[in-house]
Amino acid sequence: MKVMKKIFGWFLIFILFACSETKQPKITVYAWTGGPGKATDTELKTKFDDWKQKGIDGLMYNGGHDPETYRRVGKVAKAAGLEFHAWIPTMVQGNNPKLDSAWYAVNGLGESAYDKPAYVDHYKFLCPDREEVYHFLDDLYGSVADVPEIDGIHLDFIRFPDVILARGLWDKYGLVQDREFPQFDYCYCDKCVGDFKAKTGIDIKSVEDPSQVEVWKQFRYDLITNIVNRLADMVHSKNKVITAAVFPGPSLAEKMVRQEWNKWNLDAFYPMNYNDFYLEGTEWIGEMCKEGVTSIDNRAPLYSGLFICPDPAKKSSEPDPENHGLMPEELEAAIKESMSNGAAGICLFTPERMTDEDWAIFEKAIYGLVEKP
Ligand SMILES: [Zn+2]
Repeated sequence: MKVMKKIFGWFLIFILFACSETKQPKITVYAWTGGPGKATDTELKTKFDDWKQKGIDGLMYNGGHDPETYRRVGKVAKAAGLEFHAWIPTMVQGNNPKLDSAWYAVNGLGESAYDKPAYVDHYKFLCPDREEVYHFLDDLYGSVADVPEIDGIHLDFIRFPDVILARGLWDKYGLVQDREFPQFDYCYCDKCVGDFKAKTGIDIKSVEDPSQVEVWKQFRYDLITNIVNRLADMVHSKNKVITAAVFPGPSLAEKMVRQEWNKWNLDAFYPMNYNDFYLEGTEWIGEMCKEGVTSIDNRAPLYSGLFICPDPAKKSSEPDPENHGLMPEELEAAIKESMSNGAAGICLFTPERMTDEDWAIFEKAIYGLVEKP
């Protein structure tokens, strides 16, 4: 009996050792993904197990508005050992019986994002100054935050439409956005204009160049910040975390989409450091991480969002920067730049885009770049 115990003891030690071998320290990795489409639970499990084994720790999962989807997919993700966050766009909302067309944002020409959106058809942004809009969002995120299988809510499109597009996208849309133009500048609905007048005495519609009015910018930063911080209180009251995908910066984020995200009460920040959109290299990713972590003063982790090239062989002949992205040979530098400039980890857009070559480089980087204690 004693011998058996001894053998069993050694066996336990062996098991512990074997487990610790597979759990070497590595960089924390999240991934943006979505679905489930027609995938069965078994298919989801195969995919999630594979990602977990490759080094992904958590998913930001875009599964629509139905809490039931997050319950089902979340169960599979949790069983695979992944964190599971519901990734749901905030201010961009398509036709929905719960939304009145009058609640959509209005540009400087008086056109509504509901029926005349900027740039692309899906740019139907809501007005952030309407209490009805907040209630819609509170209901939406509240019902999903109640799902036991989710760890958190991940906001996206929590912003105004781009008043300035990323430099790399100007050609695509045939634009030169060296200043703010009224057709891309929101929101000039009666509620926003009225509330701003009541607050400052300024009738913004009578101002020749509203982009010169600093308090008008701040008024709109604050509208978004208020929505985020109210949602954060609600989600926290349900003991869940709340995070967001944000533009790089926050200085670029303020200038382009009016996100003053360093004032947001979030549990983590996921800046989309998509360098190709800005015609920049991997060093720029590091600069953006440094600015970001400095601006939030390390009160929450920042995960550096990396845009992976979906088809590396075609990148050089592809005119659309939205199909560019990090090449396999840039991936290690992108991860390194992020980590050495204060990021707590990275977030991949998207794991489906990763080629075999990417995964091989990724594995080396996430285990090789951890600071030894
Ligand atoms: Zn408005």
